[in-house]
Amino acid sequence: MDLRGKSAIVTGGGQGIGAAIAKKLGSLGANVAIIDYDRDTEAKALVADLVTMGVQGLAIKADVSSFADAQAAILTVLQTFGDLHILVCNAGINRDGVIWKMTEDQWDKVIDVNLKGCFNYARAAAPVFRKQAYGKIINITSINGLRGRFGQSNYTASKGGIIAFTKTLARELGNKNINVNAVAPGLIETHMVAQMPEAARQTSLREIVMGRLGQPEDIANAVAFFASDLSRHITGQVLNVDGGQLIA
Ligand code: NAP
Repeated sequence: MDLRGKSAIVTGGGQGIGAAIAKKLGSLGANVAIIDYDRDTEAKALVADLVTMGVQGLAIKADVSSFADAQAAILTVLQTFGDLHILVCNAGINRDGVIWKMTEDQWDKVIDVNLKGCFNYARAAAPVFRKQAYGKIINITSINGLRGRFGQSNYTASKGGIIAFTKTLARELGNKNINVNAVAPGLIETHMVAQMPEAARQTSLREIVMGRLGQPEDIANAVAFFASDLSRHITGQVLNVDGGQLIA
């Protein structure tokens, strides 16, 4: 896979899966802009890593739930790199709770970051991609957006929404040579999973037929495939990267 001459945005790139994606795209030759809200130190270290790889890196502090921030971030990337080809919408949060206890704030926050965050960046990037008749949009969903999960109505609704959103964008943008796909991680060893109650973690671990947690690099490899032209005839698809956690 070769991404030399390409420019990418990775939202939530300061840590975890997003950081692994940023490094993978950089290692394949892409310039990478990392959008993050509260990870200045990590984002700056990652930019230094990217420069060591011989590509450009850029750290932008922005809240993905703000459309104004998204527009400003895309403009900054275009001014810095000169172009944009790849958009990875990865930033995500969870605020779990059963439906009879979930607060309006828990619901709104998760939908705003996870689902509206994908809208904000796709909406801001689509005119750029359409004009140049080239673009790759990769949305990070979850296997729980396909099957639901106890205590996660807000999170699973946001991730299920991302899947439908991905399929619609694929239909709307395909005739301009823009591929839109989603990657659905299973349980991946990151900060998000470290916060899970141990019992829930063990239950999920027992589901994984490969018998181990996934690593952020496993997701980054799938994203790199969708970011490259090896996948040029694939659009509107969801690829589960879950060690067989969900075989439907
Ligand atoms: P993580 O370690 O918690 O990282 C999430 C990143 O998103 C952080 O860098 C965070 O930065 C950023 N972020 C959160 N809210 C933001 C906002 N409003 N604006 C900008 N950036 C924001 O999570 P992860 O495990 O790497 O997850 C990455 C993606 O994979 C998420 O979409 C998640 O739902 C999905 N996923 C993960 C798993 C898993 O097992 N880990 C499974 C399925 C799906 P700040 O801390 O600065 O806010």
